[in-house]
Amino acid sequence: MKIGIPKALLYYYYGPFWKTFFEELEMEVVVSEDTNKKLINEGIKASVPEICVPIKIFIGHCIDLIKKDVDYIFVPRMISIYKGEVFCPKFMGLPDMLIHGVEGMEDKVLTCHIESKSDDISDYRNYIDIAEKLALPHDKLKKACRVASEKWYRFREYNKKGYHVLEAIDMVNNSVKIESTKRSDSDVKLGILGYVYNMYDSFVNMNVIDKLKSLNVDFITFDMIDESELRKYIDDMDKALFWTFSNKLLGAGYKFFRENEVDGIIHITAFGCGPDSFLGKLFEIESDDTKLPFMTIRVDEHTGENHLQTRIEAFVDMIRRKKAKVMQWGDKIEGSISLYGDSSCL
Ligand code: SF4
Repeated sequence: MKIGIPKALLYYYYGPFWKTFFEELEMEVVVSEDTNKKLINEGIKASVPEICVPIKIFIGHCIDLIKKDVDYIFVPRMISIYKGEVFCPKFMGLPDMLIHGVEGMEDKVLTCHIESKSDDISDYRNYIDIAEKLALPHDKLKKACRVASEKWYRFREYNKKGYHVLEAIDMVNNSVKIESTKRSDSDVKLGILGYVYNMYDSFVNMNVIDKLKSLNVDFITFDMIDESELRKYIDDMDKALFWTFSNKLLGAGYKFFRENEVDGIIHITAFGCGPDSFLGKLFEIESDDTKLPFMTIRVDEHTGENHLQTRIEAFVDMIRRKKAKVMQWGDKIEGSISLYGDSSCL
């Protein structure tokens, strides 16, 4: 049996788990191709216009998998992985959106409810719907969850050691040790805030990671930080956000802004994202309070690479000049050099 896994959304967080899980169930796993213009266009055509860009892209990946003649496409219904919080509603409704809204998906979507108390989603009860649909014995399901969980923890360990998600996936999938793109000789370190599917899909973000590398910039992302550390920064809020991944970004953002460990912060957001309209505002307030350089990059279907390159270069250049002045005068320069707010349709 051929199972398709869309290379989109939480593939960049749970991909190593799900791939191993289905392989352990003796299925052939087909991952959709890298995001490209054609795939995005097909996703846009099949989506309702109001939906955010990452969901349109996900739909494009599902269409790609249908063409690859898979028997099923794995589309989990992500409910919650943290007590009292939920996923963004688009994740919760994703299987329905596909079944009822996209031609040819009716019999292809293989789904299950995922609900847990932590990032660890390996409890076999999360996958019982799949076992029932495919007539799989529970002991086989439990073993697949166990093996997949070991792989996923290894992936997370690499990730938390400073390897970014793509490097960590490569390391666990191919059992190789690779050289991290971390720039220990860099004079600028940035905090990059964004959902994994915006930060690590190089077509969506027009290869921000490589651009930073070419500018000799080091960076840190939320996924490199342990959950307990992220939570420290939002636990004292009267009310954090409703959505778990938004809260992870919020915790990381507060850490970056307040701990003086980065020289500037870039928030990568996608057009049409509701939760990010809250997040972006909270980051703007922090930037005003801390005077730390902050830039928002909002990506939509029409974003152009040259403009993005220019903006990142200008941002890094500005930080370098700011640091040089601080060194020259031996004092901290006052005044915000935030760039947020003018970044739509780059
Ligand atoms: S968090 Fe934002 S970008 Fe992600 S699925 Fe929800 S609306 Fe879309």
